[in-house]
Amino acid sequence: MTNFSRRELLGSAALVGGWLAFGQDIGFAQQAGGGGTTAPADGPYTLPPLPYGYADLEPHIDAQTLKLHHDVHHAGYVKGANAAVAELEAIRRAGGDQVKQFRAVTGNLAFNLAGHVLHDLFWKSMARDGGGDPPADSAAGRMLVRDFGSIDAFRANLAAVGAQVQGSGWAVLVYEPLAERMMVLQAEKHENCGVWGAIPLLALDVWEHAYYLKYQNKRTDFISAFLQIINWKTVDERLHRALQLK
Ligand code: MN
Repeated sequence: MTNFSRRELLGSAALVGGWLAFGQDIGFAQQAGGGGTTAPADGPYTLPPLPYGYADLEPHIDAQTLKLHHDVHHAGYVKGANAAVAELEAIRRAGGDQVKQFRAVTGNLAFNLAGHVLHDLFWKSMARDGGGDPPADSAAGRMLVRDFGSIDAFRANLAAVGAQVQGSGWAVLVYEPLAERMMVLQAEKHENCGVWGAIPLLALDVWEHAYYLKYQNKRTDFISAFLQIINWKTVDERLHRALQLK
């Protein structure tokens, strides 16, 4: 991999599919400060540290939930993705009847790696000084108004999709390159209902582990809190990079 430039990495990742396209970023995220531990790499994926301290998003996101969510849940997906990659290699080496395991292990890879990619984006989707509207003259601000009608309409769309996810999943703002526009998608679990090629710009985790300690069954209260701390800088930066991938 070291023979490839970062530009080539992004380009080849875009061909694989948008849900994974920005996963290439994860290995470059280690310089971020803040809370969280970084487990030693035991495969291609590592747990990135949080870009802020555990208590920095209070009162919207409580420290205990943030710590458990990052250190236990997100860490579990990193471990699961690395395990799936190792298992796939073992199956290829063994051959024979072992190849029957490809379907199940590929499914494990999709679940865990999509979980890793979305959590990495979820942490970056929030900031202590976030919220409000994106700058009206920013690329993100202009495209949100063009494609949703207004920033309020976008927020309502994201909140409704998040509230309507059945069971565990996500609401995700994406840039869809074929139509050259933004959309809000849902993800069931982590990996289902995605669209190949669509590039995630903002991710809202609505699994119960994201909010239950503080908000119990009031998912919509948690979603309202998330809207108060959206990191628009992340959305705008990722949109700029998505546009450069073409
Ligand atoms: Mn989660």
